[in-house]
Amino acid sequence: MKQIQHLIDGVSVPATSGRTSPVFNPATGEQTAEVALAAVDDVDRAVANAHAAFAEWRTTSVARRTKMMFEFRNLVVANADEIAARLTAEHGKVLSDAGGEVARAIENIEFACGLAELLKGTHSEHASTGVDVYSVRRPLGVVAGITPFNFPAMVPLWMIPNAVACGNTFVLKPSEKDPSAPLFMAELFQEAGFPSGVLNVVQGDKVAVDRLLEHPDVEALSFVGSTPIARYVYETGTRHGKRVQALGGAKNHMIVLPDADISLAADSAVSAAYGSAGERCMAVSVVVAVGDVADPLVDAIKVRMEKLSIGDGTDAGSEMGPLITAAHRDKVAGYIGAGEAEGATVVVDGREANFDNDGYFLGVSLLDHVTPDMSVYTDEIFGPVLCVVRADTYQQGVDLIAANPWGNGAAIFTRDGGAARRFQEDADAGMVGINVPIPVPVGYHSFGGWKDSAFGDTTIYGPEGIHFYTRPKVLTTRWPDPAGSTVNLGFPTNH
Ligand code: NAD
Repeated sequence: MKQIQHLIDGVSVPATSGRTSPVFNPATGEQTAEVALAAVDDVDRAVANAHAAFAEWRTTSVARRTKMMFEFRNLVVANADEIAARLTAEHGKVLSDAGGEVARAIENIEFACGLAELLKGTHSEHASTGVDVYSVRRPLGVVAGITPFNFPAMVPLWMIPNAVACGNTFVLKPSEKDPSAPLFMAELFQEAGFPSGVLNVVQGDKVAVDRLLEHPDVEALSFVGSTPIARYVYETGTRHGKRVQALGGAKNHMIVLPDADISLAADSAVSAAYGSAGERCMAVSVVVAVGDVADPLVDAIKVRMEKLSIGDGTDAGSEMGPLITAAHRDKVAGYIGAGEAEGATVVVDGREANFDNDGYFLGVSLLDHVTPDMSVYTDEIFGPVLCVVRADTYQQGVDLIAANPWGNGAAIFTRDGGAARRFQEDADAGMVGINVPIPVPVGYHSFGGWKDSAFGDTTIYGPEGIHFYTRPKVLTTRWPDPAGSTVNLGFPTNH
């Protein structure tokens, strides 16, 4: 059985704990590897290594850091197919989707390649007589990243490029469900010329996370995952005096107004709800159909669902792959029955789809006449289940979003510029789409939700990432004119 180990000081390190976790191919149900689960000692080694590397890394010139970052970018581009293949093999997402993930991941490295510009400070001359004031942003030290299963390549790269560009060293704890792609990227990072301690990878579970949360030499933590764990990480990390940003789950709404282009809205709802089997934190899980758009919209979505091809992600014809585990597939399927029992109309029932293999497949589902008290509405399902809530007015849609505890993304589909502009202001969410169902910001903006979708006051990647991974130092200097200088400087001393 293939063993997936830690990467500490540039070397592959087996688990000292003796604990491992199985890694499966979700498309076949076969176990393909065993991943090490770190003990406290493993985490301590990784942090000690990153801590030792920090002293030199923080003063490595911007020019050298930039060259390494460009080289890393080029290696990830050159190995994009291999990374995508690893994603499909352990996560299950179809290859085209995996390729898209790698492309979005690369954006973050490209942003960090501009570190010379990003790390420039500010300078004020003559704040007082002979006094200049300037500010610089300094790295924090060792920072850690804890990442979820659903974007095993992209989410680590929301963190690592910016953190190391700023002069920090990094310890990554990827999801134990699909650890191969992040480990491979860490190897590419080494190959790009970064010193070995700048990025360490510890594989693991709660034991590793808890040690990172309390380790005195970890200065900051970036977390992405479910809301309960995000809240726990935020509360525990900050209690230990660390800077923490913790991104959580979501329930993203897409309002469709009666004047919307129904074809565009239906295409968007289908790709945003069922892409990656709905296992995206920016997936659309609720369509709010306003007024008489509901019937034609539900029909248009249903027609498109019937054409979706579900299968092994390595098959070029597949548009949607399996879910991550059998247990998760069964949990998602349970919501369809619960929705039906609570009074929703099951327009398409994914449980009826037949798959003649042992993969963790589930068909796509559409539930209409969903109301906010139903569990399909209140819970993050994180699977290929789309709910339609019917509303009489735009305002009812906006109120639903406002009342929802999550606030990651929200979208509106309309041809009315005034309504769209109004929605930009009204939508109670951190990322808003106008005729765009999944408004994930480009790498030179920043990503983050509101309410229970994010804890901490800095969003992730882009400019806010640079802010999170640095702290300001302001220098006030006084250099009076050298009236008493014994050196003949050749200029009037009272200018
Ligand atoms: P998860 O919360 O189960 O796991 C995330 C990480 O936390 C993993 O590395 C895992 O090993 C660790 N972890 C799990 N249980 C823990 C515990 N009890 N104590 C300490 N650490 C623990 O999330 P997941 O299932 O891997 O990912 C799916 C979730 O992530 C969804 O809720 C999704 O919405 C969310 N997500 C959010 C964003 C975002 O940007 N807001 C992005 C991607 C995923």
